[in-house]
Amino acid sequence: MGRYTGPVCRLCRREGMKLYLKGDRCYSDKCAIDRRSYVPGQHGQGRKKVSGYGIQLREKQKAKRYYGVMESQFRKYFGMAERMKGVTGENLLSILETRLDNLVYRIGLSESRKEARQLVKHGHFTVNGKKVDIPSYLVKVGDVIEVKEKSKGSEKFKELVENNQRVAPDWLEVDLEKLKAKVVGVPKKEHIDIPIEEHLIVELYSR
Ligand code: SF4
Repeated sequence: MGRYTGPVCRLCRREGMKLYLKGDRCYSDKCAIDRRSYVPGQHGQGRKKVSGYGIQLREKQKAKRYYGVMESQFRKYFGMAERMKGVTGENLLSILETRLDNLVYRIGLSESRKEARQLVKHGHFTVNGKKVDIPSYLVKVGDVIEVKEKSKGSEKFKELVENNQRVAPDWLEVDLEKLKAKVVGVPKKEHIDIPIEEHLIVELYSR
């Protein structure tokens, strides 16, 4: 299945919580979750019973939607997480957090993860001095992410820096003046803005 192109607020309503997919709007009183927090669709307000499988599925969908990752890629990350040392669920969250598009968003250089994906694809970023235009690129400790020299003067980035109110997690050392950040640690569950029960995702894929 391809990437979802419908109204993104619907995704939050489906998961019953803010997934912060629309930048500033998510923090305003226009947020659809604040206005209509029930599940979209004809029977949205009547759905009640959810099976164990349904709960696990929703948790996986929530994580996928939050990070804007498609099923095949998500499964690939799960496989990677299983092969890594440590707890699979925690490894999975850590992998998702280290995607370059997520990092750009975390630093405050995009309004949403979707916009971060576009900016990366358009070649505005370098990792350790080399252009990287792959949003799914996974950064590691020690990597330096920076806006490309040519793009540094763009109005877009000036505006983003001026309006930035995001506090970067402590696994990132951010220098917004220089439009750069260094990865100084490994992201953990507590760094994620929404509650994700990663063990439910592990259970789902282990069925
Ligand atoms: Fe829409 Fe953002 Fe609110 Fe989600 S959090 S419903 S994307 S405005």
